[in-house]
Amino acid sequence: MSVVKGWCPGALRPMESSDGWVVRLRPPGGRLSRAQAAGIARAARLHGNGRIDLTGRANLQLRGITADSHAPLLAELRALALIDPDIATETRHNIVVTPFADAETDRIAADLRRALAASDLALPAKFGFAVDTGPAPGLTDTPADIRLERDAGGGPILRADGMAHGQRLGDPAQAVALAAWFLDRGGAVDGRGRMGALIARGIVPDGADIPALAPVAAPGPGPCAGGFLAALEFGQIEAALLATVARLGPLRLTPWRMLLIEGASALPDLPGLIGQQGDPRLRLRACPGAPACPAAFAPTRDLARRLMRTVPPGAILHVSGCAKGCGWPRRADLTLTATPDGFDLIRGGRAGDTPDRRGLDPDRLTEVP
Ligand code: SF4
Repeated sequence: MSVVKGWCPGALRPMESSDGWVVRLRPPGGRLSRAQAAGIARAARLHGNGRIDLTGRANLQLRGITADSHAPLLAELRALALIDPDIATETRHNIVVTPFADAETDRIAADLRRALAASDLALPAKFGFAVDTGPAPGLTDTPADIRLERDAGGGPILRADGMAHGQRLGDPAQAVALAAWFLDRGGAVDGRGRMGALIARGIVPDGADIPALAPVAAPGPGPCAGGFLAALEFGQIEAALLATVARLGPLRLTPWRMLLIEGASALPDLPGLIGQQGDPRLRLRACPGAPACPAAFAPTRDLARRLMRTVPPGAILHVSGCAKGCGWPRRADLTLTATPDGFDLIRGGRAGDTPDRRGLDPDRLTEVP
């Protein structure tokens, strides 16, 4: 077993972090039964530090795992059918499925998973698939290299990320063939590469002539088709809270820092869960910051909470422990980036962009500048 230092851990190949190893789970179909969710909560508490992240690709990350606790953790997760047979299969199984999946989408996702497991493709670690064939598109804003979607008439299409058109999808194995085309055309160099970059170089697959649908904004928390969307503060949930949520119903993972609780029509008042669209915590983004991350120049989440009430509705405040910006890799209305000399302030940009102001003292920040 090898431990990686990059940003694409798996369960079999965890990543080193300041609070121990990070073990990433990609549950099949993006779904968890009550027993699986309860089992993950138990395993995270017993073998890690009890903190679980929900990532922007709808994966779960268990934190604080150690060299000694990794094997017993895997044994428990394997018994819950959450572990792939080997690292190569685990890497290929980088699939995000719309939480609003219908029966046909479930079938497409399962067929794609089987086809990827049966292939021998050596795809870049970040190369991923989005199965977005539910009743309405939902993942157009979620990072992926190969997209399985619907056209205006409802028929399934296969689309390379970066293209405005796709081709008719008959068999999910076509997605594996498109991934092989990506490798054949030189899309990956030294284990890195993304479909969008290949397309931007003018290298495009044949036969893509069906227009893709326009992107759709991500939903907010609240009742939804099939259940209730519960948002997680900073995209993280404690094991004890996950165990409580597991009792409410089976779960579907979303790439929007929310869990879809199947069959639920309301959310009990549970600290750390957000059930209403206007909740000011939804305006905050923050990485773990200091002391959790060794790269951080300052704590982040307490500052974000302190400024929360002064962030206007609809705006995003991102507080980052350093210029890497893991907590929100996109533009935010306002970003505060910790540096050795206080916080930089960036308007309408990312954590590493050129600041509008420098050297702000966090102790004197009582409202968003
Ligand atoms: S943004 Fe910097 S401080 Fe925050 S988690 Fe990433 S590396 Fe650590």
